[in-house]
Amino acid sequence: MTEPSQTVVTRFAPSPTGRLHVGNIRTALHNWLLAKRHGGRFLLRIDDTDAARSKEEHVEAIRADLNWLGLIPESEVRQSQRFALYETRFAELVAAGRIYPCYETAQELDLRRKVLLGRGLPPIYDRAALNLTEAERAEKEAAGTAPHWRFLLDHDTPITWEDGIRGTQHFDARQMSDPVIRRADGSWLYMFPSAIDDVDMAVTDVLRGEDHVSNTATQVQMFAALGATAPRFAHAALLTGAEGKLSKRLGSLGVEDLRAEGIEPEALVALLARLGTSDPVDAALDADALAASFDLSRFGRAPARFDEAELARVNATVVHHLPFARVAHLLPAGMGEAAWEAIRPNLSHIGEAAEWWQVITGPVTPPAFDDETRAFLNQAATVAAGLDWGADPWSALTTSLKEATGRKGKALFLPLRQALTAMDHGPDMKTLLPLIDKHEAVARLVQD
Ligand code: GLU
Repeated sequence: MTEPSQTVVTRFAPSPTGRLHVGNIRTALHNWLLAKRHGGRFLLRIDDTDAARSKEEHVEAIRADLNWLGLIPESEVRQSQRFALYETRFAELVAAGRIYPCYETAQELDLRRKVLLGRGLPPIYDRAALNLTEAERAEKEAAGTAPHWRFLLDHDTPITWEDGIRGTQHFDARQMSDPVIRRADGSWLYMFPSAIDDVDMAVTDVLRGEDHVSNTATQVQMFAALGATAPRFAHAALLTGAEGKLSKRLGSLGVEDLRAEGIEPEALVALLARLGTSDPVDAALDADALAASFDLSRFGRAPARFDEAELARVNATVVHHLPFARVAHLLPAGMGEAAWEAIRPNLSHIGEAAEWWQVITGPVTPPAFDDETRAFLNQAATVAAGLDWGADPWSALTTSLKEATGRKGKALFLPLRQALTAMDHGPDMKTLLPLIDKHEAVARLVQD
């Protein structure tokens, strides 16, 4: 697919009009994975041509979210700093007749659309502005009507591209309206600057959601008009909620919410890298391994279901394998590597470590036991007091009590666990008990 001589360059191009949500995080990840897969470059482009809706706080949040996810761009460009380039390319295409001024009002256009729809015709712009004479244009301008600008689609060249996910795509320019690329106030719509930038940034691959397919059809002609080869395109099927519908929650669910729920970036990356592909989600794979196996041919055309319950499961598995060094700063003060390794198989998120640290350090409030169990626990306290805590005290304790009392299985283990941890289940006692201070453990066993 990729010629070895050509460095793969991908970009993530969010508009900073809000926080990133799961859908665009997935797009960012796909672009990062593809670049990584081919030893290429992943760039961040802030599409902030819309000054009214773009906010600096969102730019910062986007950077922070990418950073949290570990999707570090090699460099960042901002469209708001590139207007001079857009003006130049605009002027060239106006001179070449590929961009033309239009003077219709929104109401006029709306009316024409309705008339066409009423006749059962597609609401395609009729290019009336192309037929204006110089004198008519001058008259409009003199009357104070500033033009908006459309890109003239080439009706004679079929639009086609080999989509990395959807296969061969065909569009007929005659069935499409010439897109407005610039508003009457001079501001840019997203499509033209994006094509200019993709050329200028030498982007080789554009991966985005299938809501952009028709934009791509238009942009394919823009690349040609700019005298450039279009990048390769691939459009991923959109995400749906667990119910199979495009859910409102999914459209707003972002890093902040997921972090608050204790979701780790590794889990989100593991799930989103494989969602919608024929490869299974595998919590054991880190970002580099996911990049090594990233393959567009694995993507399906059906919408991919994003299930928060599945994310929670992946997250738990991820947490069970996180090394101490990765989590140390998130753990309660004093909690060391042995404690982390003992408790991590029982966590669904790192925050729960505090509960188990409390169990280790105490105090704990065990349930009330019946007389027979109390006698057994007092016996256990005596045995425990005589044990070497450095040498597997749990095995020594249970072996000794088994012999002395004939208890086994649940009757042997459960009262001990309950007295020592005040819980019915939890980490393996063999690893947990040595972490509880010996005197504390003996005291927990003693029943007055
Ligand atoms: N700023 C556009 C968006 O967020 C970029 C789309 C693209 O070309 O990837 O939809």
